[in-house]
Amino acid sequence: MIPNDFDYQKASSIDEAVSLIAQGDEDTKLLAGGHSLLPVMKLRLSMPAKVVDVGQLQELNYIREEGGALAIGAVTTHQQLASSELVQQKAPALAQAAGVIGDPQVRNVGTIGGSLAHADPAADYPGAIFALDGEIVVQSSDGKRTISAKEFFVDLYTTALEANELIVEIRIPLNAANQNSCYLKFPSPASRFPIVGCAVALHKDGGNCQEVRVGFSGVGNAAFRDSAVENALNGQSVNDQAIANAAAQATDGVDVLEDANASEDYRRHLAKVFAKRALTQLA
Ligand SMILES: Cc1cc2nc3c(=O)[nH]c(=O)nc-3n(C[C@H](O)[C@H](O)[C@H](O)COP(=O)(O)OP(=O)(O)OC[C@H]3O[C@@H](n4cnc5c(N)ncnc54)[C@H](O)[C@@H]3O)c2cc1C
Repeated sequence: MIPNDFDYQKASSIDEAVSLIAQGDEDTKLLAGGHSLLPVMKLRLSMPAKVVDVGQLQELNYIREEGGALAIGAVTTHQQLASSELVQQKAPALAQAAGVIGDPQVRNVGTIGGSLAHADPAADYPGAIFALDGEIVVQSSDGKRTISAKEFFVDLYTTALEANELIVEIRIPLNAANQNSCYLKFPSPASRFPIVGCAVALHKDGGNCQEVRVGFSGVGNAAFRDSAVENALNGQSVNDQAIANAAAQATDGVDVLEDANASEDYRRHLAKVFAKRALTQLA
């Protein structure tokens, strides 16, 4: 399959990329790893007249501690995140999510910024970004703004990103819960995308749950934080019974997807099972 004709421009800096998309017209698309954009262009679901390549921008490729957060450049690949000792230590859920995306070819080329911008309901990262309380920093010709996960993920393939904005950085706060976090998924046997992906960050103090954050990927139209599970466990003594009670609340009050991979009931069931496994692992 061959996409429509398009102009290709390789940006040599963030400033140049931002100026190339400044008009904010839907005919211009950013390209990073190309593992989501090129398939949709080949299927003619997207037919941009101009493609601006940011995938090789070294100023967008880094992982560092900065200002109380883990700062990750937008074109950092899944493989770089999965293998980073810093991410494994400070936000294991993110390293684990990156490490189970697709296959080695996808992980070596696909980027975190591209995955978040694409907002596939079944993408692995979003659930982890919710559980880790991450933020997305975007830049346009008007300057920078920082968007919380809740504001960023709007719906199926829909984010708060404007057409003239480039994701430049993902920020994950450095805190005790994020350091004790994990990501588990039940993958589709065909695509490896999660049918259900569950990320949990848990901080215990003397056996009591001080803070718990639970994020799901693949379950609804967009990833979300599951407040029913969190409210059931916060402040409680963390034991098998409390975990089972809390996990049983997973997806309560949430619209759950039904598709060729799984019925709504099966997804709800998997969400409870994976919430229990993730909480048990961290406890
Ligand atoms: C065979 C296969 C299996 C896969 N399995 C999984 C899986 O199991 N789990 C999973 O989560 N994903 C999976 N993916 C998707 C993969 O993770 C992609 O790499 C990712 O979704 C997109 O990243 P990319 O860098 O390739 O972005 P691209 O394809 O280059 O871009 C995707 C979208 O993001 C926009 N964009 C890119 N960078 C930026 C930026 N910095 N700022 C603003 N907008 C930007 C583009 O304009 C485009 O709309 C799979 C893909 C393939 C081909």
